[in-house]
Amino acid sequence: MMAQTANIGPLDLTPTGHEAYIVSEANSDVTNALAKLGEFRKDSTGPGAEILDIVAAEIRRTGDPTAVTDQVLTLMGNAARTECETHTWCTGTGEHDAHMGATIDIPAPDPQEKPYLGAYLIDLGGGAVAGLDAGTWQDLDSAGLRAEAAKIRAHCDRLDALADQLAAIEASK
Ligand SMILES: [Zn+2]
Repeated sequence: MMAQTANIGPLDLTPTGHEAYIVSEANSDVTNALAKLGEFRKDSTGPGAEILDIVAAEIRRTGDPTAVTDQVLTLMGNAARTECETHTWCTGTGEHDAHMGATIDIPAPDPQEKPYLGAYLIDLGGGAVAGLDAGTWQDLDSAGLRAEAAKIRAHCDRLDALADQLAAIEASK
């Protein structure tokens, strides 16, 4: 068997068949970035090493280590914001104990003011309930929420009746 004359310099870190990092670029930022990656690469195996190879290749391709680093950090940040594993309706991400769904509400007539009649699903550990902004926030079960919805629906009829009354007054001016 012929002796292999492996040409493994300090930055030729891919003896298993990957393309070796090439650090001959004139751009010293690129050279430094690849050297740093090479240090990490030495201690990495498996997917971690593969990722470093891809990052190194991208830095070589673009010649812009800062842009590549920013892109990688953004992707890693996105990956950290994982979806809630407890409730499909929860909008929480990452580690959290207070599960909360999206809020539904009615925009105020004056857009500068807060919306009203807000409601959302929430689970603080004792099971899901609906929070309803009924002057003060109330925790309701599904039957309680339906009862409030019925009252609000009836109230809409009364609002319409009130509007009819006002329209008659306006017309008589
Ligand atoms: Zn959650």
